[in-house]
Amino acid sequence: MKQLNIAVVGGGAAGLMAAIVASENGAKVDIWERNERVGKKILATGNGKCNFSNRQMSMEHYYGSDLSIPQKILKEFDVSDTERFFQNLGMMIRAKDSLLYPYSEQASTVLDTLRFKVAEQDIQILTEELVTEIKALSECKFMVASKRKSKVYDRVIVTCGGLAAPKTGSDGKGLDLAKKLGHKITALYPALTGLKVKDNDFKAISGVRCQVSIDMLLDDKVVMHEKGELQLTDYGVSGIAIFQMSRIAGMGLAQKQKVQVVVDLCPDIELQELRLLLQRKKHQFADRNLDSFLAGFINKKLALYLSRKISLNPNTLMKEIKDDKIYTLANLCKKWILDIVDINSFEQAQVTAGGVHFAQLEDTLQSKLHRGLFFAGEILDVDGKCGGYNLQWAWSSGFVAGTNASKSN
Ligand SMILES: Cc1cc2nc3c(=O)[nH]c(=O)nc-3n(C[C@H](O)[C@H](O)[C@H](O)COP(=O)(O)OP(=O)(O)OC[C@H]3O[C@@H](n4cnc5c(N)ncnc54)[C@H](O)[C@@H]3O)c2cc1C
Repeated sequence: MKQLNIAVVGGGAAGLMAAIVASENGAKVDIWERNERVGKKILATGNGKCNFSNRQMSMEHYYGSDLSIPQKILKEFDVSDTERFFQNLGMMIRAKDSLLYPYSEQASTVLDTLRFKVAEQDIQILTEELVTEIKALSECKFMVASKRKSKVYDRVIVTCGGLAAPKTGSDGKGLDLAKKLGHKITALYPALTGLKVKDNDFKAISGVRCQVSIDMLLDDKVVMHEKGELQLTDYGVSGIAIFQMSRIAGMGLAQKQKVQVVVDLCPDIELQELRLLLQRKKHQFADRNLDSFLAGFINKKLALYLSRKISLNPNTLMKEIKDDKIYTLANLCKKWILDIVDINSFEQAQVTAGGVHFAQLEDTLQSKLHRGLFFAGEILDVDGKCGGYNLQWAWSSGFVAGTNASKSN
């Protein structure tokens, strides 16, 4: 039987997985990668530790306009398959609750594990080759071309990523290739990123981190609730809880909805209890000024910022402050409303919401428009929450595309 020639366009997580699987199945595989090396984004994941999957898997953690194909794919190559795959390649795994990391807690371990296997399989990596054209010549015949090279293949797997973190190589060029091949691309938004607020004083609290609970409101309706660390920055809010909400915020803003984040800075204390607590403290430390009074409360920079918002002067003695003002401060701590005016750009985003539409794809991730053309990874219209879900999608879809591309007709 003739050996299939396969081009994998994009050497990220999905591309490396697809290439390994296709080559194990007997295909001759080339990876075309625009960067000087493969897997640049993998190195940036999980703050350099690479949260490569999550044992708590369900479709609740994924978004997209049609998740029926992603659901099948995530079952076909699931979390336990991913664990087995990496363990078989010699990588030890560390589980932190349900989150999975390499035991070394170094993202480079995941990349090295994949790179060594790629080398063993004799997969050719063509680096610094930005693919500018994929031409369908006939059924299962494609010409893949960069500025310097071109080559004909039986199958092409496009794994160029989306638009997020373009410094790592995924700047939307792959989406352009898909579009030129006739594929429909859904609306694209940055996801898993920070939100910008309408407040010029935010610089004063930049760097503050606190454990909070947060509601996201679209046109005054609560649409999402998260708990976790809130990180305040000079532009607005960040941290995992905010990242999880950013997709909805981005879509809300695009649809001209009012987007707000309501922060509870003291989630473990009821409002009434907080009011009484602050009132009691106020009487106990009546001769202190507000500045020293606030020292024993929430983060001081933040407490002072909130006090300024309700026109309290830090030098005022506590005995000169009316109880009503203290109640207002308690109210603000329980319900700090932030108007979101924008979402960070793709430069700061971890993933792309939207991508190649599943309507023109089969369950195998093969194009319905061109036999022999496959897609995998973030280029597709599916994105996950923080917690290893995006890389799991890259592994699962890479596996399915690689497996099916290496089957002869
Ligand atoms: C800072 C950061 C942290 C993250 N942390 C996590 C995490 O801990 N856990 C998690 O699950 N997910 C995480 N993600 C998301 C996850 O990394 C991505 O969803 C996943 O890597 C996508 O893999 P991919 O192979 O589809 O695309 P990419 O990794 O983007 O790979 C695409 C590759 O294609 C190449 N390419 C693009 N266009 C062309 C072209 N025309 N020709 C040739 N080559 C091309 C690019 O250079 C790149 O190497 C994080 C993302 C970022 C940015």
